[in-house]
Order: sequence, then C-alpha cells, then structure tokens
Amino acid sequence: MQTNFTPAQLADPAMASSEKILRSCVHCGFCTATCPTYLLLGDELDSPRGRIYLMKDMLEGQKPASPEVVTHIDRCLSCLSCMTTCPSGVHYMHLVDHARAYIEETYRRSMSDRFVRAVLAATLPHRARFRAAITVARFAKPLKGVLGALPFIGPRFAAMLDLAPAVVPAKGPAGRPHIFPAVGRRKARVALLDGCVQPVLMPSINEAAIRLLNRFGVEVVLPAGEGCCGALVHHMGREASSHAFAAHNIEVWYEEIEKSGLDAILITASGCGTTIKDYGFMFRNDGRLAAKAAKVSALAKDISEYLLPLELPTPARPLGLTVAYHSACSMQHGQKITDGPKKLLRAAGFKVKDVAEGHICCGSAGIYNILQPELAEKLRDRKTGHIARTKPDIVATGNIGCITQIAKGFADRAKAGGPAAPPVVHTIELLDWALGGPRPEGIAEHSVWARESA
Ligand code: SF4
Ligand code: SF4
Repeated sequence: MQTNFTPAQLADPAMASSEKILRSCVHCGFCTATCPTYLLLGDELDSPRGRIYLMKDMLEGQKPASPEVVTHIDRCLSCLSCMTTCPSGVHYMHLVDHARAYIEETYRRSMSDRFVRAVLAATLPHRARFRAAITVARFAKPLKGVLGALPFIGPRFAAMLDLAPAVVPAKGPAGRPHIFPAVGRRKARVALLDGCVQPVLMPSINEAAIRLLNRFGVEVVLPAGEGCCGALVHHMGREASSHAFAAHNIEVWYEEIEKSGLDAILITASGCGTTIKDYGFMFRNDGRLAAKAAKVSALAKDISEYLLPLELPTPARPLGLTVAYHSACSMQHGQKITDGPKKLLRAAGFKVKDVAEGHICCGSAGIYNILQPELAEKLRDRKTGHIARTKPDIVATGNIGCITQIAKGFADRAKAGGPAAPPVVHTIELLDWALGGPRPEGIAEHSVWARESA
C-alpha cells in the first residue's frame, strides 16, 4: 500500500512503525474471510482491510479520530485471526495498538463510554479491587433487569453482572509472593505470572500449574510485587497505564533474574502471554528498560510451551475422557501455539476433539464482552454451538477470559432448556489431574454431560 507520511511524521517511532506495516499490506483481502466481525456484519469497514484503510487515513492525515473510525476500531476484537491469514505478514496487532492509543489521545468519548471504561481500568487490573467489585456484583445480580435497562450503559452493566461468578473463590496459596520448591532434585527455576483477574476468578489454575511443575522438578517463584501485565488497559488504548504496569513487572522479574536466576517466566493466561512476549517491542525505544524488556520477553512462555519438551510421563490409568479443545485467539494467533496443548492432553490420556471454526473468537477478547456485549454474545453462541456438537465430557482452553465466556454460554443454553453445561477448565488443570493431582473443581467423578446430551 502506498503511503504519504511526511519526514516529520516519520520521526515519531510509533508512526514510523505503523507506516512500515501499512506499506506491507497489498489489499488482497484474504484476511476478510477469517475476521469474526466481517463474518457477523458483512461490512468492509468491519474487516481487517477496511480497518487498515481507516487507520491509514487517520494516522497519515494526522486527523483527530472520527466517530466512524472509533466505531469500527472498537468493534475489532484484536483476535489477530487476520495476522494468521495474511500472506504478506502485516503486523495488524502493532498497527491497531497504535490506532487505539491515538484514538484515546484525540477522541472524546461519550460520558457513558468514558464512565464504563474508567470503572474497568480502575478495577480489573487490581486484584483487591476486582475481588471487592465481584463480591458487590454477586449481590447486584438480581437487579440485572433494572440495571440492564438503564440508557446507554445498561447492556454493559448487564454484561459485567453476567460475568461475575455466583461464588467468589477463596484466596488460594498462589496469589501471594512465595517460593514453591521442586520435589526431589531441582531441574529448573521459573517465575509464574499471577496477574490480576485470574487468581481472583480461578486460583485453581495456578495452583494446578505449581503442583505439576513442582512434581516434575521445577521450582516456582511468585515474586513479591508482580501484578497485572498491562494487557487489559493496553487494549483500551491507555498506553501510559499499560506501560506503567508492564514496566513494574519487568523490574520485578529482572530483579529476580539477577538475584536468583530464572529459566523461564511462565504464563497460564494466553492473553497476558501475548502482551508479555511483546514487551520487547513496547519498550524498544526506552533507554532504561529496552534491554530488560527484551530479556523478559525472551524468557516468557505459555505453560503448555514450557511443558511440551519436558516429556511428561504417560499416566498409568488414562482417564479416557473426551475433551473439546478451544484454542484461544491469543494462543493460536497471538503466540502461534496450536498443536502443543492438544499433544499434551493426548499424552495425558484424554481424547481430544477439535472444534469447527476453531480460528474464530469466542467473543471474550479481554473486556470486549463487556464493551461490545451484542457482538460478543453472537460469537459466544456460535462457539458453544460448535463445541456442543463435539459431545465433549469437558471443555479445555488456556485463557481465563475464554473459560468465563464459554462457561456462561453453556450455562445460558442449559437455562434455556438445553443439555447440562459441560465443565470448562484450563488445560493445565486436566494435565495436573491426569498426572496425579486432584480432580478439578466442577468436574463430576464421572462426567455424564456427553451421554445426557447425546
Ligand atoms: S483482529 Fe480480529 S476482529 Fe480485528 S480485524 Fe483482525 S480478524 Fe478482524
Ligand atoms: S490479507 Fe494481509 S495484505 Fe491482504 S488485505 Fe489483509 S492485511 Fe492486507
């Protein structure tokens, strides 16, 4: 694509990076075929190619973002399916990240939009505040009808209440700074990201990861002070805030690397993994943090990526349950991890089923299901329909957002008279269970979901 940025514009590193990305797009439109919003809406401006044109026009013309641009960029899930499809290697993620930050600087959103975004940015990345918020949301659930009918913000309030769990899990042993020693001879030492939302909603995920790693000779450290990776606010275009979260974690992990050494930084939420692997790019022009950020990104690994070469043992008595594996967008498109988690599950004795339209997002996409509830619900229903057709005993995925979204979709289907909802768990919980850990909460001793819905 031909571009006409001035030398003065290109002196800005963010603009120079976007210009390079824009030039690599050849307008072929292959990406439109795999874009969830184009699939739902059929509007070129809700396709990657259409959005690329809008972003080019906005950035090149140095115009404040228009309501039209904001509408179509806000509808983008940042699922990155377009990046997997694109034959020209267009780095859509860096382009849309820049556009979102530019929108945040140049566009004044409606009061209701600003309010909802401010509430989300002030609560989700902070564990204690998020725990308090979902505790309140539990009691507000019966008011969903009234709150959901409020003008402008109603549907978003309803979406927030829907996603709050009926029971807030107790704080587990993970979630606090600690060193979890390897059982037997220590083969490796890793840090595990605890982050923000996941340890509050499902502390069982990191507890399973720690148990499994420890059993296979890996010492796990949760360094003091580590917190949100910055991804949630990053997707809202709040660059200063996302960089502050990221910079904080980089310093914490780097200190740990210097002090005691780390073989890897492991992540059990693929959305966070995609962002942490991008820290090197985010801080490329930061004289103080560039090298540290690059080191952290180089050490960052999804838990499945780390476990695969360890060649875990085969269980003596395989559980033999059928697992529908949902590959999170941040896993398959963001980190290009596709077969590893399925190989691990098969080796652990599960029958793994692929889900039709596996490349299409479930609608979770960070906080997309709160900000764009109608589109998110359509994608969720499409996804649960495809999963249900595999007749699984269990659904497994590697991202907390997808777990919440898919579980809610199945719960709604069951409420509407559909079959009982299958348990939706993290891949690591199944691996830990199959290899000697406890049965994940929510999985009945003998899952009957598949048989009931047959
Ligand atoms: S990131 Fe996803 S929703 Fe956004 S343009 Fe690409 S494929 Fe479409
Ligand atoms: S597939 Fe790639 S090159 Fe083709 S229009 Fe989409 S982004 Fe541009």
